[in-house]
Parts: sequence; structure tokens; C-alpha cells
Amino acid sequence: MENNENETKELTIAEETMQMCKILYCQKDLPMTKTCMCFGWECGEGWHEILKRLSCELEALNLLYYDKYKVRIQADQVKEKFGTLRFYYTVVCDNYNEIGIEANKVIDAFEKKQDNGYFGLKAVCDQKAYYTDEKDDDGKPIKVWHPSKYHTEVTLHKEEYEQMKAAADEAHKRLVESGYDEITPEQKVIMEYLDSEADARIRKAEDDCYNVCERCGWQIGTEYSPRCETSGWITYICEKCATKVGKDGRETVYYKDGAMYEGKKLIKTKEQIKAKRDAFEAKMNKLEEEDEPSDEEAEKIQKKFNDEITEAMNENKK
Ligand SMILES: [Zn+2]
Repeated sequence: MENNENETKELTIAEETMQMCKILYCQKDLPMTKTCMCFGWECGEGWHEILKRLSCELEALNLLYYDKYKVRIQADQVKEKFGTLRFYYTVVCDNYNEIGIEANKVIDAFEKKQDNGYFGLKAVCDQKAYYTDEKDDDGKPIKVWHPSKYHTEVTLHKEEYEQMKAAADEAHKRLVESGYDEITPEQKVIMEYLDSEADARIRKAEDDCYNVCERCGWQIGTEYSPRCETSGWITYICEKCATKVGKDGRETVYYKDGAMYEGKKLIKTKEQIKAKRDAFEAKMNKLEEEDEPSDEEAEKIQKKFNDEITEAMNENKK
């Protein structure tokens, strides 16, 4: 029954894209200590179609060049920041042959254990920790935890640690011998090419998102659907989404053409906001002329200005 449900479950655009673009999103199942890709696309669904198109473009390049040159574009983080899309990536050269891949697994496993032991649950197990002969980058001895019932996952016996360390050292030697770090001239060319291609395509997608409602995907045009900036966390959405009542029953407070709205209701006109800001600036200028206001005073004035706006909004609600 459960299996059937899973099979018939329709994939979201994000899930479908990550499944299709396996090389680009190879990091999506890694833990958050290794990558931000584990969070998926951290933005509104309105941008998902654009992200799907961009992902397919980048993955098509991967499919063209990865098999032959072992060079690929890798998505590192996809998110919304200050109302705009940010797509972070790196161009990676995988020179690992079979030996290299195996060796890398051993090294990764060791490093993961080491990280967990070093960073995990210090408060609980501090007294049970001991130091190895190894030194970290700051020259401090590396601390390893004894296993206990509280944190079996993050601990390592000294013997186990030493075994893994020896295996990792050995693997690293094999990795170097397999020539993983020698990038050929052809690979260098492909890396440069993929970098500039990815950069251009990502810039275009980021620009496209600027004109698309992050919630519903509506193309924001000046005539039909003005761009609205919600207050607090900056989000650019269309007017339709801005005037929609949220799940919590609250309407969005937003700015449109310089005026402030809550739902469909005009809270403050552009002129009123401008008058307030002008008065605030004049006051600040006057204070500066007389005597430089302290940070505290400036903060007070700013707060008073904000309070007045809030008060005006509440009055309008009544
Ligand atoms: Zn919208």
C-alpha cells in the first residue's frame, strides 16, 4: 500500500529536477556539515520553473563533457537573498579513477568520524575525551571521544581511530599515485569554458527571477501586476499575492509605487511617507549641524519615526 502511494505520488518541480540533473545536484544527499544543497532550493515556488530550465542547461553541459573530461558544474547553494535569486556553484575536476574513488571513500569516512568526534557533544563527554598524538592546524593535540551511551555515533576508540587514520593515510598515498591532482591542458580549457557558461546562464536566470513573483511565478509587468516589496524580510511578489490573505489570516504589509498597503487597503500614501522621511532627515540634519547626535539619540529618533508609522497603520485598521 505504502509503496503504491509512493509510486503514484507526483514529484514537485524541485524533486523532479534534482532527479534529472544528477551530476549538477550530486551533493543534495550529503549532510549539512558538507553542503548547503541538503536544504534544496531555498526560495519560493514561483521561481522553480526558471530554476528547472537553468538546471537542465547546466546539466546538459555536464552530460556533454563529464564522461570524457571528468569536469563538471556542481550546485553548492540555491537560495533567495534580499529578494533576489542566488545560485552558487563550483566547477570541479574529478580525476579519480577506480583506485581514486575507493581511496577517497576511505579518506572521507575517516574525516567524517574525525569531524564528528571533534565537534560533537563536547559538553557531555569532555571528561571522557583523550588526546591523540596528532596535532590540528593550530598545533593543538586532536581530541577524540570515548564511546558512551549518549553519543555512539560521534565517538571513536583510540585503536579504531588509529586504524582509520592509517587506512586514510595509505589511501591518500594511492590517490596521489593515481595522479588525481594532475589537471590536463584539455581539462583546464573545459573548466574555463564551463565556468564562463555557467556564470552567464546563472546571471540570466537571476535576472529573470527579478521580474517574476517569487510566490506564484507571475511575470511582473508594470501594467497588470506591480512589483511589491514586503516589509521586514524583503520579498518581491506580485500584487495578487500581496493582497492575498495568508494562512494565519493576516494580510501582507507591502510597498507599491512608494505607498504602503496592507492587503488591499492603503495605509500611507507616497506623499505621507515622503513627508515623514523628509521631516526625519531634516531633524537629523539639524541635529548634526548643532551637535553630532550620539548613536543612542539617533536610534531614539529612528524608533520614534518607526513608531509613528506603526501607529498610523493601526489607526487606519480601526
Ligand atoms: Zn504572485
